[in-house]
Order: sequence, then structure tokens, then C-alpha cells
Amino acid sequence: MTGEGSVQKLVIVGGGTAGWITAAAFARLLGGRLDIELVESETIGTVGVGEATIPQIIRLNAILGIDENEFLKATSGTFKLGIEFVDWGQKGSRYLHTFGDTGMNLGNVAFHHYWRRSMGAGGNPKGLWNYSLHQRAADEARFGKLDRVGNTAMTGLAYAYHFDASRYALFLRAYAEGRGVTRTEGIVERVERDGESGDITAIVLKGGERVAGDFFIDCTGFRSLLLGGELGVGYQDWSKWLPCDRALAVPSERLETLVPYTRATAKDAGWQWRIPLQHRTGNGHVYSSGFTTDAAAADTLLDGLDTKALGDPRPIRFTTGRREAFWAHNCAAIGLSSGFLEPLESTSIHLIQSHVSRLIQLFPRSANAAAMRAEYNRRCAAEFAQIRDFLILHYHRTDREDTEFWRYCKHMSVPDSLTHKLELFAASGRVGRDTDDLFRDASWVQVMLGQGIMPADYDPMADQIDDAQLTGFLESLRAIIERSVAGLPRHEDYLARHCPAEKLNAAA
Ligand SMILES: Cc1cc2nc3c(=O)[nH]c(=O)nc-3n(C[C@H](O)[C@H](O)[C@H](O)COP(=O)(O)OP(=O)(O)OC[C@H]3O[C@@H](n4cnc5c(N)ncnc54)[C@H](O)[C@@H]3O)c2cc1C
Repeated sequence: MTGEGSVQKLVIVGGGTAGWITAAAFARLLGGRLDIELVESETIGTVGVGEATIPQIIRLNAILGIDENEFLKATSGTFKLGIEFVDWGQKGSRYLHTFGDTGMNLGNVAFHHYWRRSMGAGGNPKGLWNYSLHQRAADEARFGKLDRVGNTAMTGLAYAYHFDASRYALFLRAYAEGRGVTRTEGIVERVERDGESGDITAIVLKGGERVAGDFFIDCTGFRSLLLGGELGVGYQDWSKWLPCDRALAVPSERLETLVPYTRATAKDAGWQWRIPLQHRTGNGHVYSSGFTTDAAAADTLLDGLDTKALGDPRPIRFTTGRREAFWAHNCAAIGLSSGFLEPLESTSIHLIQSHVSRLIQLFPRSANAAAMRAEYNRRCAAEFAQIRDFLILHYHRTDREDTEFWRYCKHMSVPDSLTHKLELFAASGRVGRDTDDLFRDASWVQVMLGQGIMPADYDPMADQIDDAQLTGFLESLRAIIERSVAGLPRHEDYLARHCPAEKLNAAA
């Protein structure tokens, strides 16, 4: 930025998912005002993973005006109703963290309090998930658009997507370039700064080309070339709470039945993901190098595949945590360059989206941006900490002590903010969620129950109906859910009808 001049030229460095989401959103919302240039290097490439999302992505697509069917066709995508966690609370356990509610609230009382009461009253043998539309649809591999269940107040199917990461970046690139974003190919070698303010004035590419700008967005992935590298913003390391620091990713043949959910299976020193796409399956093993070797981790991954591998496992290293600041001087980092929360709950693409929308809301007109910068950093930091606590819950609340890794996770000390939530739920079934927490009460309830916390009590307001009314209520919910699920198409048929993948190379 030159002096107090207005911000006119935006330079985005990096063309992975973060770079292209940022370019697409800025082009859509500030394209008339800003000149936008994105610099990326095909030689360096992208991280190449990041294929499962959460429902907030639908909002991003709506803002960008992206048609769902065109998007899924282009990215070989599928629908996702939640994540199935296998072997987490204990070996042999299994639960679905769904994107929806379970059952139906009555008045101000959340459904799980009635369900908890029914366990005491009649010894209800049916788990909470028997009252989950999402669970039943997932069991039957069905998917369809459903806003409400029957004519009840029960909410319908909330969903997100799985897609091919490389196809997604290409899709967004076409979108952004079509709306005026200029793409420059090249490797950034040097950064120029203003001698007085310390602001970035230009990046210089290998070969000497100079790209000047007023504001810079660092989307260079784990390298964090501008914010971490040039501006020297430090990193808060959270690996004492989230000890996984490596991953091996490998594609495999497509699943015989395309289930509408991600699977996350706990392993001896980490966990393995399985993401169903139309043309192949995405797999990866996230593990802690402190508790296993790379060779053993590769064996675990390959042994755990449900279909034939289509290549060799590709290694990725990371440190869970975040930058001390997300925006410094005239540079904000978005994506992996700003920090990394491991992919257990598929939150990274959401963080990109939420940071971009926050940055657009607070985008400075001139160099005088200190107040906006402070607000941006405050809100991004709170969001990272809330998601961090939700992830730690999965590791920490376990009965597993069968390996050194699980003994560590079970006995580690956790942030006070999480301890409070665990104690409150265990005592009363209530959720101490922060109002701006990404995860809703329904998510906290499902994961806390799924990991094995049975609340000692329930909300006394759930005593307002008698036992017969309670039994009738629960049975009618089950019947309505079963009827609704029976009316849904098979996931596979829905995809074939509305959004069959464009022909792709299976290993792509
Ligand atoms: C194991 C793993 C699994 C994941 N799974 C999920 C998931 O299921 N869901 C989810 O939401 N997220 C997931 N993520 C996160 C997700 O992959 C990332 O958030 C997303 O891909 C964004 O990455 P990025 O664009 O920040 O970085 P990258 O993809 O690494 O892109 C960096 C860009 O910067 C460019 N670059 C770097 N240095 C230079 C230079 N010197 N000059 C020019 N260009 C340069 C590169 O060429 C590239 O274009 C996962 C991450 C990991 C590690």
C-alpha cells in the first residue's frame, strides 16, 4: 500500500482451495472495486486433499451463485449426511455425527432430554440414533431433498458434499477467471516491503517479474510464505492436545454402494478417513509420529482400505495450531497458511470460507486498518479455539487404553473451556455451547453421547408429560422417520438422475 492511498489492487498468493475460494468470493463481492491477481506455481502444486465438507458450504455456493448439480457433476461429488465414527469411545463402538437434529424438541426442551428420561422410565432399549432421520437414511444409503419430516416440526435432511479436491480447485478457478481475476504462473522468490510502515508492496517471481499490490492474501499453504515467513508471525502449537502430525493419503476404487457419509475409524495411533466419490474413494491415515512409525502407518492405511488402492500412499506433515495473528500489516493468511486443525470434522474448507467472508466484511478501504485488523484477529482466534475443543473431545473422552496413544489422549489435560462442557453434560445433559460456536447443540450432544458420556440427569422440564405420552411421542417419531426414509431415493439413484460425474480418469 502506498501511504494512506485506497486499496485498489488485491494480490492472492497461492492457488489451492484457499486461493481459489478467496479469489472467487472477492471477485463476486468486491470485483467491481478491486483489481484481483492470483499468483500460483504448478511446479510447487497443492496439498491435494480436503474432500469432505460441512453444510455451511451450501451458503458459499449460494453467495457465489453456483448451481449444485453443475458443481457435483464437475467435481464428481456425492452427498454427506455426517461422519460415522468407528472405534472411538471404545473398540467396537460406532456412531454417526449427523448434520441434523435427532428426534424433535418439545417446547423449549431438547429431544435428548426426553430420550434420557425414557431410559429411566421404561428402560428404552433404543439408542438416540433410532430417532435420527439422518442415521436411518445413512443406514439405507438413501438421499433426497427433504425440508421437513411429514407434516411435523421435525427438520429434514441437512447435508454437505464430498468432492474431488483437484477438480474443485479447477472449478473455482474457472469461476474466478470468468469474473475477471487474473492468474499469473510463477514461483515467489522475494517480497518487497515499505521501509517505513513495513507493509508488503510487491512480490517478485523467479525470473524477475514483479507483482505489486495494496493488500496481499497469503494462501501459500503450510509454507505461509508471507504471514509466517516474511512478516514473521509466530505459530501456536496445539499438538499437546491434538497429537496427530502426519497423514498418508491414497485413492482407491469406488465403493460398491455409495454411502452418504464420511467414515472416520480410530486406529492404534490416529484414525483413517474414507470419503466416497462417484469415481473413486478418498482415503487417508492421520497419525502421530510420536506413537507409530511411517511404515506401520502405511500398513495400517492399506490394510484398512475397503477397495483396491489406485496408487501409493502420499505423505503429508503438519502441526496442529494457528498463527499468533491471522492478519498483520496489509496481509491476511487464509487456508493452511493461517493454521491447521486436523481434518477429523472436515472444518478446514469451512474455515477458509468463514475467514474470507469475515475479511470481506472488514475489508479496509485504506491503509488505516488497525481496528478492522484487531476485530478480524479476535474473531478468527475464537473460532479456531472453539473448533479445537470440539476436536479434542473425540480423542479425550474415550474408554480406550489399549495403546500408548489412546492412554495419552485419555489422560492428557484439556483446555478448561472443554472441561466445563464435559462436566455440565455429564451432570445434566445440558450443553454449554458458546453462542457463536460453529457446532450446534445437536453436534455436541451426539459426539458426547457417541463417545460414551451418559448424562446422570435430564432437564426437569421434560417431566411435564406423563409416561404414556412419552412412550407415544417416541413411537410416533420412529414411525414418521421410517416412513420418510422409505420415501427417499437411493443416494446412487439421486446422483445418477441429477448430477452424474463428468467422465474422469479414475486415479485423478
Ligand atoms: C491430511 C489432510 C486432510 C484434509 N482433509 C480435509 C477435509 O476432509 N475437509 C476439509 O475441509 N479440509 C481438509 N483438509 C484441509 C484442506 O486440504 C485445505 O484446507 C485446503 O486444501 C486448502 O489448502 P491451501 O489452499 O491453504 O494450501 P495448498 O493446497 O497447499 O495450496 C498452496 C498454494 O500456494 C502455492 N505456493 C506455495 N508456495 C509458493 C511460492 N513460493 N510461489 C508461488 N506459489 C506458491 C502452491 O502452488 C499452491 O497453489 C485436509 C488437510 C490435510 C493435511
